[in-house]
Amino acid sequence: MNPSVVLVSKFASRLISGGFANFETTTLDFFCAGRYHPAMTTSALVLFSGGQDSTVCLAWALQRFDRVETVGFSYGQRHAAELAARPLVLKKLRASFPDWKQKLGEDHLLPLDVLKSIGGSALTDDVAIEIGDSGLPTTFVPGRNLMFLTAAAALGYRRGISDLVGGMCETDFSGYPDCRDETVQATAKALSLGLARPVRVHTPLMWIDKAATWRMAAELGGTGLVDLIVEETVTCYEGDRTHRHAWGYGCGQCPACTLRAAGHSRYLAA
Ligand code: ZN
Repeated sequence: MNPSVVLVSKFASRLISGGFANFETTTLDFFCAGRYHPAMTTSALVLFSGGQDSTVCLAWALQRFDRVETVGFSYGQRHAAELAARPLVLKKLRASFPDWKQKLGEDHLLPLDVLKSIGGSALTDDVAIEIGDSGLPTTFVPGRNLMFLTAAAALGYRRGISDLVGGMCETDFSGYPDCRDETVQATAKALSLGLARPVRVHTPLMWIDKAATWRMAAELGGTGLVDLIVEETVTCYEGDRTHRHAWGYGCGQCPACTLRAAGHSRYLAA
């Protein structure tokens, strides 16, 4: 029998035996047990901002999946430099890595203007970058990663993609609670339940620091990828593309530049 028919009939019988009341947990257990293989080719959707971390995640996905699509979000960022970097990074990746070019599919850009409407963050409004009353940096955008993951999962649903890849990291980060592994995996579980389909979120940078992120780039794509990241990706909270450092462009002062620069120094020194 066609494997997909076997799969569907097994799934149906499991649902029936589990009963309607157990639908959600039964479905989730089934998906999470790794027994659901919807297609012979594997595909992934990478949350791709045009920054260093998501570019490394994209390379990571291109090494592991047969087909890779990308999604970015326009949420009223004060600086357009990061969004402007996205097509340039994709163009250079295609030009420099023919194997990856074959796998790299559509790029999607989704508006999430509600984050700008809510406002209050240094990334969306004219607010000083400092530690706020909440104890978090004023660059924190409440709910941002939760919305990104939800929108990406919904897009993946339409594109037949269950594997999402994101650059969230809680090793060498700004303390954002929606970058924590527990938050990301709880969101994946909620999305799997809410879509009645598996949603897996891969976070290859979660447990490594910024120096190791540079090393991962070198391991995945050699100096070609490291150079591409230096020249084209934008991490700076100020969107600065005028000051060139060994680690790339940026103001050199904001927390994002500071983390990127310190990681690059440790990467070179290792
Ligand atoms: Zn900066």
